[in-house]
Amino acid sequence: MTNSNFDIADSFDLVDSSNFFTSQNFLSPYAFLTSSSVGRRYPESEHPYRSAFQRDRDRIIHCAAFRRMSEKMQVFTAEFGNYHRTRLTHTMEVVCISRTVGRVLGLNEDLIEAAALLHDIGHPPFGHCGESVLGMLLDGEGNFDHNLQALRIVEKLEHRYVDFPGLNLSRELLDGQLYKAVKSGTPLLEIQVVDVADSVAYDTHDVDDAMEVGLLNTEQLMQTALWKRSAMRVRSRWTNLSEVDFKQAVVHDLIDIQVSNILNAVRRRLIEYDIKTWEDAIKLPVLVLPDSEIAEQKKEMELFLLEHVYRHPKVMLFRNKITGWINKIFEYYMTNIDKLPKKYENVLQQESKRRAIADFIADMTDRSARLYASYLM
Ligand code: MG
Repeated sequence: MTNSNFDIADSFDLVDSSNFFTSQNFLSPYAFLTSSSVGRRYPESEHPYRSAFQRDRDRIIHCAAFRRMSEKMQVFTAEFGNYHRTRLTHTMEVVCISRTVGRVLGLNEDLIEAAALLHDIGHPPFGHCGESVLGMLLDGEGNFDHNLQALRIVEKLEHRYVDFPGLNLSRELLDGQLYKAVKSGTPLLEIQVVDVADSVAYDTHDVDDAMEVGLLNTEQLMQTALWKRSAMRVRSRWTNLSEVDFKQAVVHDLIDIQVSNILNAVRRRLIEYDIKTWEDAIKLPVLVLPDSEIAEQKKEMELFLLEHVYRHPKVMLFRNKITGWINKIFEYYMTNIDKLPKKYENVLQQESKRRAIADFIADMTDRSARLYASYLM
């Protein structure tokens, strides 16, 4: 039974903004123009029919590190079934959400798409657990950060082109990725959009996945204001939903609430700060964020997920196994460095043995890391 009065406009204030958000096919004055790009480290002539950022997008999609995300976990390992997100499907959800936000705001969608495809390419096997193990193994040698690893991949480790190492991406993409690691300065609005879309995607799909694999239920989630808010909206729209339909409807609403709130909050800030160009925007703090109420509710949801999902005994059990596997592979190559693939020779000579082994392990998928470790056990 549908309540016909309910509409997405309930949460997306369109009342006096008909000229502000349109299904426009043109850029806003504050969009970053491709023609403003600083360009690439190794100069190249323009492609005859693809913009620079379209070309970046294609280079990212065609690189090996991008394909490997299909076998890298987001939160749950393969033991948890076949419903949950992988690093690749998470990335595609971030692309969808960020392109939607970018199009409504009239930003440069090609830049957004490329930045979203790039954002998680540096993850090692086994997500943040794999990252912290590699960080410990590299202690004293600059740690391991998946955001910086993405830059190593696209600037150094990928070998796909005759004329240059890496992918020779546009400077704006490299700067955007660096911002993710250092969080200093204010990035382009397009990069801000990808950052906020990443958080909308993982806050929502981690709830969905955790319910599906049985680590969370709807009663527990009612402890969080964000879930409760969406649950009430769903109940007001439909009556007598099955448990499955209810869960899915709330998950969809969680995305709608967050995205609509971000669009409204950004619109207010763009007007308040009189943003006219992309240069205006980067002189201010980050603008592409939800309002303070939703930001608080997202923070509460993230703490809830940390306690009930990321630190769930079933998840932690795999953390111990993963630590053992990565340590085993690392130790083996520390004493058998001559067995390291030739691809890492430059890193070995120019940087360090530990860094070369970390690059090798970081390139592995979850499955290949497990297989390597099992041969060595
Ligand atoms: Mg991400």
